[in-house]
Amino acid sequence: MSNWTGPEVNNFRKYLRIASVHPDINYDDCITFLTEQATELGLPIKVHVDNPKKPVVIITWEGKVPTSPSILLNSHMDVVPVFPESWTYPPFSAHLTEDGKIYARGSQDMKCVAIQYIETVRRLKKNGVRLNRTIHMCFVPDEEVGGVDGMRAFVQTEEFKKLNVGLAIDEGMASPTDEFLLYYGERSIWHLIITCNGNPGHGSLILPDTAGEKIRVVIDKFMDFRQKEKQRLEENQNLTVGDVTTVNLTQLSGGVQTNVVPESLTAVFDVRLAVDVNHAEFEAMVNSWCQEAGDNIKIEYEQKEDYVEITQLNENNAYWVAFKRAADDLNIKLSTRIFPGGTDSRFIRGVGLPAFGFSPMNRTPVLLHDHDEYLHADVYLKGIDIYEKLITAVANI
Ligand code: ZN
Repeated sequence: MSNWTGPEVNNFRKYLRIASVHPDINYDDCITFLTEQATELGLPIKVHVDNPKKPVVIITWEGKVPTSPSILLNSHMDVVPVFPESWTYPPFSAHLTEDGKIYARGSQDMKCVAIQYIETVRRLKKNGVRLNRTIHMCFVPDEEVGGVDGMRAFVQTEEFKKLNVGLAIDEGMASPTDEFLLYYGERSIWHLIITCNGNPGHGSLILPDTAGEKIRVVIDKFMDFRQKEKQRLEENQNLTVGDVTTVNLTQLSGGVQTNVVPESLTAVFDVRLAVDVNHAEFEAMVNSWCQEAGDNIKIEYEQKEDYVEITQLNENNAYWVAFKRAADDLNIKLSTRIFPGGTDSRFIRGVGLPAFGFSPMNRTPVLLHDHDEYLHADVYLKGIDIYEKLITAVANI
């Protein structure tokens, strides 16, 4: 097909060839590329630099009614590391196969979405369309390392407030089926470090009150809870992993020598609290587990996210009504879900704004962060058609 070699695909491949890969990313090439894009579009670009190494780039297309709340089209510029030896084609070559697959790190997560936004705006402008609301295309750093110096910091700035955002659209995930996935909430991430202290001594004795006895109880409690959530997920076809609380034991440490009973042993858990879990109750439950395990147990939180309201998908949310109607007109089927991991949407929802997580990729294997990440050129091009309708709908409310 000839449009695999057209400007829309070429532009995508050009962005993919910029190796904005962790760690220690230099975002200069992204800024240069996006500045060229803004110039081509004839739109103003701003580079917000609170931290010179962590720029936030904003390209703005002013609407007919600039006082109305705007539409923020967000994407992150960074990508996760690669193991080139495990790839069929070099991961920053953006190789296009004869059957139309574009291989590159970032082809799904999420440089596709960034260029689809740009190509959508280019097409609308070319067709002489002017939307009611202002569109801000925002390109942020560091999403893949938790967004601390990216969106999490940016939403707290005056610059962000001035954007007067009404709705944000950000990344979702590929779907292997015909359906498209739309995410309206995320679980809260809690990383717990639990240290059990006890009597040290010789490994030949049976000492009272040891760290080993305590940590065994703590691990059992967490694993029993995990088992219940696992069962709940397996027994109910309507649930996805984002709907339950996941618990994983991710690190164990302690001890110095085989014949020495250690003074302390530590277990680290990665917990993702489902959106219907009461945080205070969950914390009280963990505290009671540790109390049951014995004295001298320390609970630390490496990360403990606050509860964030989900985005309502109902008649009261005019953006959702418009988005859904446009999706119906396009004849695309949306499956609405809670995102299993974390994206920048949680920071946007955290300041009280609605956010949809949506990457228009159906009939596509989920390859984000995987070797041989690719996107088919036809899926990518279809995504621009989809955004054209969806963005027009929400920006014309
Ligand atoms: Zn991503």
